[in-house]
Amino acid sequence: MFDPNYKFTVVDRFLKYVKIDTQSDEESTTFPSDPKQLELSKILVEELKEIGMSDVVMDENGYVMATLPSNTEKDVPVIGFIAHVDTSPAVSGKDVKPIIHKNYQGGDIALPNGGFVIKADENPEMKDMIGYDIITTDGTTLLGADDKAGIAEIMDGMEYLIKHPEIKHGTLKVCFTPDEEVGRGTEKFDVEKFGAKYAYTLDGGTVGELETETFSADGAVVKFTGINVHPGYAKDKMVNSIKVASKFIDLLPKDTFSPETTSGREGFVHCVSMQGNEESTTCKFIVRDFDDKKLAEYEERLEGYAKEAVAAFPGAKYELQVIEQYRNMYNVLKHHPEIEAHAVEALKRLDIKPIQHPIRGGTDGARLSFMGLPTPNIFAGGHNFHANTEYVAIQDMQLATKVVVELAQVWEEKA
Ligand SMILES: [Zn+2]
Repeated sequence: MFDPNYKFTVVDRFLKYVKIDTQSDEESTTFPSDPKQLELSKILVEELKEIGMSDVVMDENGYVMATLPSNTEKDVPVIGFIAHVDTSPAVSGKDVKPIIHKNYQGGDIALPNGGFVIKADENPEMKDMIGYDIITTDGTTLLGADDKAGIAEIMDGMEYLIKHPEIKHGTLKVCFTPDEEVGRGTEKFDVEKFGAKYAYTLDGGTVGELETETFSADGAVVKFTGINVHPGYAKDKMVNSIKVASKFIDLLPKDTFSPETTSGREGFVHCVSMQGNEESTTCKFIVRDFDDKKLAEYEERLEGYAKEAVAAFPGAKYELQVIEQYRNMYNVLKHHPEIEAHAVEALKRLDIKPIQHPIRGGTDGARLSFMGLPTPNIFAGGHNFHANTEYVAIQDMQLATKVVVELAQVWEEKA
């Protein structure tokens, strides 16, 4: 039973964190991509020490790690909680001015700047928020609930457990990572040093979300080579690689096979860039499916179209290169069913209905799962990520704090 007199710290923490600009930078080659992220990381180090966590460190790459030692005789697997400090490069995160809309009574929420309106009919979750206190921005920035809500909830959960030593739990680990939004959050994650057996990222949206399946992902590069000759003397000699590549793109099926024509469990092949000249033209693709075997199938089909295109232009050649990006984390998680089962149990004990659907994308947890740390993703409560209309309800953040506490207990009980 959660202490009804507990004073949550999640909201104060959240409001403090969002005021620190931690936008990551896609163009950067340094790590972290923008050192301003460390400003928040340093504050988190201090706060973790203040609440009484052990072994609080920030490593040279900006990963903050801390331990809450076990207080039980039982042999409980070490469980980690992970969230990211950075915000999306898509919308500014500088000078965030959070607004609390108390006791929401339904309808749209208009933001004071930029003409942004959070529309009730486009945000069906809002009908479950009547009477809630909803935090938005003033319209000039994103909010940063992705993923500062996750950080605040993990912090609050740890603080609760420290203040309630009667609740038994195994060793718990916390990690706050940089650069998730630019796909590099796990690049320098030291799984061994972290020392958890399993972990959860708190980086999802709607209350109840529990994500255990992601896409499997490859990149594919198809390079066409033609024959370049001075255009004045090109007759019967020139083979323009741009035309070969255009034919190839035209051969791709139009009503399947693409992100704009697929949904649910269907995969796709998506051309993300095409660049070239007469001599050579390169088409870059991302290839996605929930089933690894299908990726190879798509890549074979791509090669088939490349062959067909080249055959129409004697003298032209193609090369196909496939680069593995990440794999469906369910391939790992299915071998440890208790990770999902315990999360479902924790949600049920809090009367939260689990929402489980495969993610048409990747997560840091997908990469971590293949680095030896099986890590599904749990809701943090935010909505409209990477947008000026991002929002989160205070009550949902408090619920996520409870999930952290409950999860720790379930793992101890079931050990
Ligand atoms: Zn996120």
